[in-house]
Amino acid sequence: MVRGARAPAPAPSSPRMKATPVPESASTPDVPVIDEPTITAAVDDALAAISAASGTAELKQVRIAHVGDAGVLSRANRAIKDLPKDQKAAAGKLVGQGKGRVQKALAARQAELAAAEEEAALAAETVDVTLPTDRRPRGAAHPLTTLQDRISDIFIGMGWEIAEGPEIEAEWFNFDALNFDIDHPARQMQDTFYVAPEGSGQVLRTHTSPVQARVLLERGVPLYIGCPGTVFRTDELDATHTPVFNQVEGLAIDKDLTMANLVGTLDSIARALFGGEPVTRLRPSYFPFTEPSAEMDFRCFSCGARQGTDHDADPACRVCSGTGWIEMGGCGMVNPAVLRAVGVDPEEYQGFAFGLGIERILMLRNGVADMHDMVEGDVRFSQHYGTEI
Ligand SMILES: [Zn+2]
Repeated sequence: MVRGARAPAPAPSSPRMKATPVPESASTPDVPVIDEPTITAAVDDALAAISAASGTAELKQVRIAHVGDAGVLSRANRAIKDLPKDQKAAAGKLVGQGKGRVQKALAARQAELAAAEEEAALAAETVDVTLPTDRRPRGAAHPLTTLQDRISDIFIGMGWEIAEGPEIEAEWFNFDALNFDIDHPARQMQDTFYVAPEGSGQVLRTHTSPVQARVLLERGVPLYIGCPGTVFRTDELDATHTPVFNQVEGLAIDKDLTMANLVGTLDSIARALFGGEPVTRLRPSYFPFTEPSAEMDFRCFSCGARQGTDHDADPACRVCSGTGWIEMGGCGMVNPAVLRAVGVDPEEYQGFAFGLGIERILMLRNGVADMHDMVEGDVRFSQHYGTEI
């Protein structure tokens, strides 16, 4: 407790009052003497402590000590009721006025200290409006990612599974297991990124087909998988090519599968991607890993080329260039040599496989004209196409 200077001693004639039957004793803790010097001293003590309090927390302690239940003034107040009747009024006035002075000083000091503390807090928490904001704008999934997820959903909807594999791939999985012979042009340095050092036997995968070989070895047959992923070829970046692109391949291995199953599956995917009644057209082609092989076309979904016949196509259609057909990718029945390479008996099991370019689907489906837009990382592109495809 902080004690301040005491007020001048009161005149000896000051009335002295005390509660009965407690004997007169200034040291009695419970019942203070109710006289002017005692009350004045208590008030002065309180006022000194109030003005010395340096913060609202300290002032709270001062309040408890001086006007709390255990303080002299409160105890004196409680003792008034036991005084002789003729002394009660004077005692009440003395204690009441003293308490009033203390309460008033407390309120004033409380306001003063709270204001000072608020000012200090504001100064300490000053906001520098010139600092860069840390609120980051909301982005969007890249449209290729969104489309790839959507395509995976189509496979899952058909009851197939999704399989993934490494992007740095063993040359054996990328080429040998898939029946690419050692002189195949795709294996040359101008088409394929090889991983240093020379002779490492590793490439950046040129397609997602090695995932099929891996899953076949791991899981065996029967098997129905979709393999979406990023692949790499040494193409220059232009409006329709990029050295890094995405594709999704499908592989089904089971007993008694035929090209009719392949066409039915492609129709189903075309419908899910482009809507309408799809018509798939196959044109003979060659790939090392399928036999027979075909290029697959979907009926143009844009110009109303009914039944996919050429004469129904809109000659001005930009999607199909007036042909009525859209080239979608390669497909075929899995080459028996590929099945043998992964330990499956081609006499017992057959399979079909197909591959679709995801960039190409995005370009067709959403009218993206230039491949550059997909790789330049402009967030407006993602926000426009990636929110919902
Ligand atoms: Zn068209």
